[in-house]
Order: sequence, then structure tokens, then C-alpha cells
Amino acid sequence: MFQSPDFKQLGKQIRCATTVDVKQALSTKRPDLNDLAALISPAAEPYLQQMAARSSEITLARFGKTTQLYAPVYLSNYCTNRCVYCGFSADNLIKRKCLTLEEAEKEAMILHGRGFQHILLVSGEAENAVNVEYMEAIALRLRDKFAAVSIEIQPMSTKHYHRLFLAGITAVAVYQETYDRDLYKKVHLSGKKRDYDYRLETPARVAEAGMREVGIGALLGLGDWRAEGLAIGHHLHWLRTKFWSTAFTVSFPRMRPATGEFEPLERVSERNLSQLIFALRLFDQDVGLIVSTREEARYRDGMLGLGPTRYSAGSCTAPGGYGDSDIDVDVDAEQFSVGDHRSLDEVSTMIREKGFDPVCKDWDCGFQIADN
Ligand code: SF4
Repeated sequence: MFQSPDFKQLGKQIRCATTVDVKQALSTKRPDLNDLAALISPAAEPYLQQMAARSSEITLARFGKTTQLYAPVYLSNYCTNRCVYCGFSADNLIKRKCLTLEEAEKEAMILHGRGFQHILLVSGEAENAVNVEYMEAIALRLRDKFAAVSIEIQPMSTKHYHRLFLAGITAVAVYQETYDRDLYKKVHLSGKKRDYDYRLETPARVAEAGMREVGIGALLGLGDWRAEGLAIGHHLHWLRTKFWSTAFTVSFPRMRPATGEFEPLERVSERNLSQLIFALRLFDQDVGLIVSTREEARYRDGMLGLGPTRYSAGSCTAPGGYGDSDIDVDVDAEQFSVGDHRSLDEVSTMIREKGFDPVCKDWDCGFQIADN
């Protein structure tokens, strides 16, 4: 089992890094966890441009001039957890909705009609609304229509993940939110999510179940972002050692306004976010790095080719939001507000104008079915 290093020690290690450590980390071909600490440190800030150049070089070499595109489908905003930072928290008085199988398929097919081949099914964590049977039924409806169907729902057992894998789910994302154990208890007030270790062990259960790809990450704006970055590095390193044939991605969701008006506990600037992305790219050349529509169009355009490999586009974070033009996000509650409102076509055009290829399909779930 992965043992998360002491969060405060990670912060101390990072702040001890010197210019010499940063130069050593930049000169080595295969940075290790100590190098990652240096690259995330305040001492590395003057070297951001060099980090960007190296990160871009690696990204082009490993992924080519491509950016993968996907869109989320929000299935349900029911949630039994109380997370202080989330618009779906059980505390919040919002209009709750769980899509029927027909509605879920309709939402997905709207995205299909817009050109998406990769969708991410997202829901709040409420087993009485969204459970393995419901997800399996949706997966079976969508498996032949999409190249890749990923999920971001409540943590499950290995057995249930395997069942979803057989139904055509290709990837699972589960973010630790914060690797700081003490802070984790403070921001997760009640519900199953309060169990830090069960969540921490989830990526390993996903990989054990045979999923093709596992997504990890932390919600930036809760704890010390530098220590979160190093903790992600430790987790990723452990997962890679144990599950060498699984693909991994890291997401960097920065806190956005949401119902409940929770204010970020830590300010994470775009410059900080960029440093984190470049550092992780240097540390792990093959990891997929995801920047969602939480970020502004200007930032996402500027980061193209510098490290990230996958963008979401044309996203709505309220259940039923694609098909229902009457939806009022102030009443119907998005999980968070979106920073980049452009459509798939608009994002694809921007990518092409910058000399890259937008990729909607880089996998076919037929490969996955043939595996079994
Ligand atoms: S972060 Fe997830 S688990 Fe927490 S309240 Fe929001 S939807 Fe529920």
C-alpha cells in the first residue's frame, strides 16, 4: 500500500532546495523525487523559462504536436459527502438531479454530435443515485459509440471497477484533493470521503482492476501547492513501479467559484500552476497532464505544447446541461464555474492555428474488449 509521506516534511524539503539543487535537477536526464522537490521550490522560480523550454521539448518528443480533447458529462449532483469547497456538497441547497439512463445517453450523444469521441462521466458521490449497476448500464449503452469513456465518481472496490472495465469503461480519475492528512479531515466534514486512506488507495484498486488509465491529482487552493505537487510525484512514482503497464494522468484543478462561496485557503497563481506542470513533465516524461476548462482560455492557449497533453472543451458542469437550454447554473448548480467557455470547434481551431493537431480519438474501446 502507498504510504503518503508526511506532508509538512515535504514542504520543508522543498523549501530547503537551493539554486545548486535546481541546476542539478535541470541538468539531469531523469530527475528523481529530490530533483522534483527542487523544481517545485521557490529557488526554481527564476528558472521558469528554462523549465518551460525543457518541458516543451520533452512533451513534443513523447506526444508529438498533438492535444487530446474530451468533455465531461455530469450525471448527478446528489452527494452524501460534505466537502467545504464543493457546490455539490450535501449541505448546499441546490436543485438536485440524477439523469435517467436515457437522459445520460442523450447528453453523451449531444457531445458525440459535436465531434467528441472521448467523454468523462462525472457525478457526486451518492450510492443511492449512482452505483455500479447504473454506471454499468450507461457504459454498455455508450461503449460502441465512443472511442473512450472515462469516469470520475465515488471510489469503488476493485471488483466493481473490473465490472465497469468489462462494460467498456477505459479510465478512472480519482483525486486525493489534498495529501495533507490534517487538512483533509478539516475540509471533508462528513460522509465516506472522510476516509483519507480509502481514497488514497483507490488509484491502486483501479489499476488492479485492469483499467487502461488512472488519473490522480490534488485540488489546488486547499493545501501548500508545492507539497501537493511533491506528494503527487511520490504517488505517481509508487504507482508506476507497481503497475508498469498502466497509463497515468495528473490533473491540476485550481479552485473555482462554486455554490457555498468557499474561499481558497491558499492562493495558487497561474505562474505557480505552470511551475508545477513543468516540474512534473520533467519528472515523468510519459504522464498525461490535463488542464481543464476551469482555466481561462488565455492561459490554456499559452500553455499549449509546453507540458499539458489533454484539454477538456465545451464543458458544462451541471447534470443535463448540454440538452437543457433552460438550465440556470445559479439555481441548478454547477460543481464549479467554467473559465473557458469555447466550443470544441473553437478550441480545435485555436490548436490548429498554433500548429498542433487536436485529437478526439487516440484509443478504441474495441482494443479493450479484445483484451478480455
Ligand atoms: S467534491 Fe465530490 S464528494 Fe465532495 S461534495 Fe463535491 S461531489 Fe461530493
